[in-house]
Amino acid sequence: MDFSQVELTAEQQAFEKEIRDLLSTSWTPNYAHIALDHDRSPDSVRLAMAKRGWVHPELSEGEGGAGLGEIEQEIITALFEEFYIANNANNSLLIPTLEQHGSAWLKENILPGIRTGELTTCLGYSEPDNGSDIAAAKTRAVQDGDVWVINGQKMWTTWGNESDYVFLLARTGPIEEKHRTLTMFLVPMDAPGVEATPVWILGGGRTNVTFYSDVTISDNYRIGPVNEGWSVMSTPLATEHGAGVVTEGVVPINGSMGAGFSRTFEKLIDGAIDWAASRKGADGRSRLEDPLVRLALAEAMLDLEVCWNAEGELGKPMAAEALAANADRLADMAAPEGILDFGVDGSIAAGIIASERQHAPGSAIYGGTTEIYRNNLARRLGLPRPY
Ligand SMILES: Cc1cc2nc3c(=O)[nH]c(=O)nc-3n(C[C@H](O)[C@H](O)[C@H](O)COP(=O)(O)OP(=O)(O)OC[C@H]3O[C@@H](n4cnc5c(N)ncnc54)[C@H](O)[C@@H]3O)c2cc1C
Repeated sequence: MDFSQVELTAEQQAFEKEIRDLLSTSWTPNYAHIALDHDRSPDSVRLAMAKRGWVHPELSEGEGGAGLGEIEQEIITALFEEFYIANNANNSLLIPTLEQHGSAWLKENILPGIRTGELTTCLGYSEPDNGSDIAAAKTRAVQDGDVWVINGQKMWTTWGNESDYVFLLARTGPIEEKHRTLTMFLVPMDAPGVEATPVWILGGGRTNVTFYSDVTISDNYRIGPVNEGWSVMSTPLATEHGAGVVTEGVVPINGSMGAGFSRTFEKLIDGAIDWAASRKGADGRSRLEDPLVRLALAEAMLDLEVCWNAEGELGKPMAAEALAANADRLADMAAPEGILDFGVDGSIAAGIIASERQHAPGSAIYGGTTEIYRNNLARRLGLPRPY
């Protein structure tokens, strides 16, 4: 790990060691499957971290966190990256949503487990016919006395096969009224009638189609007023998009899911450097001395620097597109041996170049496509829509 400008205090070093020891004893990275942001933390790690308040360490101890400062939080994030463990961002979106809109019952019974990280969640927005236009959702919830009966289908419910609850966007009135007839629910994934079937993505990670057939849940699971789902989900949606996030502090965080892509991008560049340092050209010199290799690496590093500093809503499109373009370029450069999957004879750097070449294109799609981000940015800046 390189903390560059940050010098850790003795306590912070001890903290780093404590977590490193915990991760080393409870988790061995599966390099053959490093779909970084589509692998949930293994239960052994998540529950061990939850016990210490380290899943949401920014929360106070009373709230299920550990009241840790920025550097300690970054130590956790950096170690998770090093050990190829994806943190679950969904809970971070749901904690403020439930605090603001959740029923007393949800706050008492479910929110504490989400805060500690013992309970896990997934997002049920997209459907087969509507991804970007999520307000066109057709999954329907009908009230029947004290209960709601849900029928429909969600697409791309990542972690749907290993979550306790899905944050579900449902239609509760005429579809013609679009944004005005949506309601949010927190649906237990083990409720009868919920089914998650796999969708394998390029590179081998899993997401899901989730089906809801006469799923009957108590009104306690409704989040916010009936037909006001759009306003309930607008905050988690804006947070996921990085809207309004201002960079602060000592670590390079661009305030959006672009930060995660930037970390992956950094690993990709490290992998390409490993490749170059371990190969020789026809003249016997290290490939690191080849001007074309140096140019590709230098340009990738410049792109990365820009990504680290692209704040808020800009972070995702910048980082997703830079990651995909550079994964292609570095894969071409390092071929053939640099693009061998982990475990194949001759592969290097845990197969990260091969892996990212396959996974990077998806980063421009999930969480909202980069075209949608550009439209949103243009609207905010008072510019014409680019698409
Ligand atoms: C790996 C993966 C994981 C995902 N995880 C989840 C999840 O956990 N939960 C969840 O709910 N969803 C998830 N998604 C869904 C994701 O958010 C959608 O795929 C995405 O929003 C695009 O929707 P779509 O696939 O329906 O494409 P469409 O919306 O049909 O878009 C197709 C193309 O048209 C463009 N387009 C559409 N509308 C506009 C517009 N108004 N202006 C300009 N261009 C436009 C898009 O940019 C895209 O290029 C995931 C997707 C993937 C691939």
